[in-house]
Amino acid sequence: MRILATTELVKRKPIPEPIREADRSGGTNPGPRNITLDEQNPDILVPPVTDRGTIPNLKFPFALAHMRLQSGGWTRQVTVRELPVSKSMAGVNMRLNPGGIRELHWHKEAEWAIMLDGFARISAVDQEGRNFVDDVGVGDLWNFPSGIPHSIQGLKEGCEFLLVFDDGGFSEDSTFLISDWFAHTPKPVLAKNFGVSENDFDDLPEDIDRTRYIFSGKVPGPLSSDRVSNPLGQVSFSHRLMKQQPIKTSGGTVRIVDTTNFPAATTISAGLVEVEPGAMRELHWHPNTDEWQYYLEGSGRMGVFASEGNARTFDYQAGDVGYVPFAMGHYVENTGKTPLRFLEMFKSPRFQDVSLNQWMALTPPELVQAHLNLNKAMMAALRKQKWPIVK
Ligand code: MN
Ligand code: MN
Repeated sequence: MRILATTELVKRKPIPEPIREADRSGGTNPGPRNITLDEQNPDILVPPVTDRGTIPNLKFPFALAHMRLQSGGWTRQVTVRELPVSKSMAGVNMRLNPGGIRELHWHKEAEWAIMLDGFARISAVDQEGRNFVDDVGVGDLWNFPSGIPHSIQGLKEGCEFLLVFDDGGFSEDSTFLISDWFAHTPKPVLAKNFGVSENDFDDLPEDIDRTRYIFSGKVPGPLSSDRVSNPLGQVSFSHRLMKQQPIKTSGGTVRIVDTTNFPAATTISAGLVEVEPGAMRELHWHPNTDEWQYYLEGSGRMGVFASEGNARTFDYQAGDVGYVPFAMGHYVENTGKTPLRFLEMFKSPRFQDVSLNQWMALTPPELVQAHLNLNKAMMAALRKQKWPIVK
């Protein structure tokens, strides 16, 4: 019975072939081939007729990134090494088991984060000696500026989150770990620094590569029990993104978060975009910097216009990283039957985009018409307000 059902399913879903009906081009692919990948990337197998030329790869799924498995959870990263075009930003996807600890550490890059599942307790101390501890849940953000030491710990159900760094060359394996520094400092120096005796360091951890970094721990008590009193005061590095009122248009919503509403994120800005089935993030570009994307939910395709007659289309689904090089025009269309949710991330204190539609609406109409031979109906449809999601 089960076999019959499977055969039926295969029959109903034909194997995709690199054949384009629009201009009667292409031919079958007898193989060898990876049909699963072809099915996930219909616009690479059969590019729209408008695609042309060589554009670097703008997609890397976290599912193809090396998994570092540790006693307290796991981590994987998509950096310039996985996705060579992504020079300005990198991402890390991390899981912490209940009580699992991402070791006290710091790094050169700023760390922007969004919680994807569960809850975590995060802590930091800044250069003024102000401290911070908070619990974060799904949709909450944090941002630790470059060099600020911090920690993350999974609470009762554990957690999964995305970290975004403002340098594509970032590596999660080369952060400054507290245990690593202790292991590589002479004990007399440690004794002198802390005003204690050398014997007080007899039990420092060994094999820290395996036993620390992400290690198992006890689920901490309530947040109040972890507050450290501080005469120098507290500082905040977190933000409740879902409490923000979104920009709403006919096809979906956008929540923009940058230094205007989240001052701690001094170098990284973001837009959380929700596109309804059949809707599209409109044709636009960013006048300031590259765009790093993370797909949270659903499936979509992005067409990128690179000038010189070049354009290419990529398909994305949850867990994929996308990228748009600086100033290239693009759209993101929901190709599924469920909402598409993704993050647009920028190495910039401010979120900035330019709408093709708004540009045309606010330019002398005769000038616009002279370029594109547009009729009256099309000119009348132009919108002076920005509509990030259209349907
Ligand atoms: Mn970090
Ligand atoms: Mn964009």
